[in-house]
Amino acid sequence: MGCELCSEVGGELLWQGPLCRIVLVNEPGYPGFCRVIWRSHVREMTDLSEPEREFLMRTVFSVEAVLRELLQPHKINLASLGNIAPHLHWHVIPRFENDPHFPQPVWGQQQRDPQHETRADLGIKLAARLASMLG
Ligand SMILES: [Zn+2]
Repeated sequence: MGCELCSEVGGELLWQGPLCRIVLVNEPGYPGFCRVIWRSHVREMTDLSEPEREFLMRTVFSVEAVLRELLQPHKINLASLGNIAPHLHWHVIPRFENDPHFPQPVWGQQQRDPQHETRADLGIKLAARLASMLG
């Protein structure tokens, strides 16, 4: 059926549990751009049971907390769109005042060239913090 999030990891795998995974997305100018991807092909939050929803959001908030700790962004953007890939996933995006789209959403019109480079060890650091937080 050609769902990209069913067939591919979708980034650098940072953490994986039985229900979802966390990946670091390689997006120029956006260090720490993560996605939390539900494992099975589910369309909407309301397709999950209440405990599943709670688990997913707890995971999203753990990613947010770790990104704040490691990168001290100006703002965190949380988004679940899925118009192109209707497979439940959350974007957790650290935002900086000089990032390519600020103050627009990352899907809006680009305002400037990328300023921030992703440090090579960021994925390793994120994975270690997430492992200690999520088990
Ligand atoms: Zn899928």
